Amino acid sequence: MSSASYYLLPFYFRRLNHKEILVNEVGDYIVAPQGTVERIVYRKIEEKEDLFHDLLANYIISLTPIPDLIDIYAVRLRTKKSFLDGFTALHIFVLTLRCNQNCVYCQASSQKENACYKDMQVEDLRKSVELMFKSPSQHLTMEFQGGEPTLTPHLIRIAAEYASQINLTQKRELTFVLCTNCVNLTDEVLEICKQYNILISTSLDGPATLHNRNRGKNDSYEKVIAGIEKARTLLGMDKVSALMTTSIEALQYSKEIVDSYIENNFHSIFIRALNPYGLAVENTNWEDYNSRFIDFYKTTLEYILEINKKGVFFVEEFACLVLRKILTPFPIGFVDLQSPAGVINSVIVYNYDGYVYASDESRMLAEKQDFTFRLGKISDTYENIFYGEKSQKISQTWSNECLAGCSNCSYQSYCGADPVRNYSTQGDMYGHRPTSLLCKKYKSIIDYIFLLLMERENEVLPIFKSWINKTDA
Ligand code: SF4
Repeated sequence: MSSASYYLLPFYFRRLNHKEILVNEVGDYIVAPQGTVERIVYRKIEEKEDLFHDLLANYIISLTPIPDLIDIYAVRLRTKKSFLDGFTALHIFVLTLRCNQNCVYCQASSQKENACYKDMQVEDLRKSVELMFKSPSQHLTMEFQGGEPTLTPHLIRIAAEYASQINLTQKRELTFVLCTNCVNLTDEVLEICKQYNILISTSLDGPATLHNRNRGKNDSYEKVIAGIEKARTLLGMDKVSALMTTSIEALQYSKEIVDSYIENNFHSIFIRALNPYGLAVENTNWEDYNSRFIDFYKTTLEYILEINKKGVFFVEEFACLVLRKILTPFPIGFVDLQSPAGVINSVIVYNYDGYVYASDESRMLAEKQDFTFRLGKISDTYENIFYGEKSQKISQTWSNECLAGCSNCSYQSYCGADPVRNYSTQGDMYGHRPTSLLCKKYKSIIDYIFLLLMERENEVLPIFKSWINKTDA
């Protein structure tokens, strides 16, 4: 056949370090010399070239207007989007806004420990559990949040007990997660966790000085570590995980933060940026913070790679999620990197105030008297909440395949849409990619991961594969 007789299939490309990354619609990629896209478009790729066959195999070109294996390609796309099959799987229950810490970056507008009027009403809690079971998802995760939910152990017990009771007939795969600062892990709380097999998700910001400064308390680190150890002893090592939040102070301590995780027997860390909600929004120059966070992320990832090269298995969870999207055909179930977005499709929030919100960030906006993402009352019907006017409006902007900037971005299948973040930072749900700090952060991090894969494949790929395989197991 002549070199001109092939057809183009939809693909995206990005120039990086004098190379071109070509990505097809399901996220498979090829790295090719600069100028390759132009040669493809002008039908200059010849059949005798290896590249020709790589492009064919990766659905970037086709010998026929519709590729012979289009059905296989369709199955692969369906697999990538299979997180949509079950609809909402993560159900967040904000049991109270009360808290016993005073975090500098608090995103939840937490209240004093004795502000009991900020607790969820038992009737609302029971109705929320009933709403959750209206979701068609076979997997249901109930996540208890606050404030600090351990200040309301009776609500944790009621929720777990009622859900377990309903599940005797519903027979879903039910998982409970308690998001706690671990400062108040009393025997009563841990006994409830043991009884209902509740996992603990805590937050550890690094070494004692940094952690205490972030919490606004002198003894927080000591208490958190004691709480983690107590929970591990009673529930098991694998029942406790931790997250960190990168405060402005933390930006200078990448090594110390990773070391503190290793010292405390964690095998992974999730390097998480501050979110522009709650207290954090007043305390931060976001543009400056975003740039510094991107540098911090890269430095920390480099340090983690060094540690792995010395034979210590230690995962950076965000990179691992992106790598799963780049290197495997499977969806990852991480709500921030989804299109259609995680809001409503994968996560929903039942709030202490008796209302249902589209996401965790949505209820944080409500604390600032912005009720844009309030979907309805907990007492409303499932249909009105999940398929009502508000949900339909949000759905118009929740697919990055349809958003200017994202729709032709080479990282579209690795990234996600976030109408709530667009709204809170840019004033509308649609957003504007060239000035979006979230877009800049994702693009920079994915660029960096690609640069590692392109320039240092032999060194990093075995480490990355070990992370992905471990997570798959
Ligand atoms: S948010 Fe940015 S990086 Fe993500 S798909 Fe859209 S344009 Fe690409």
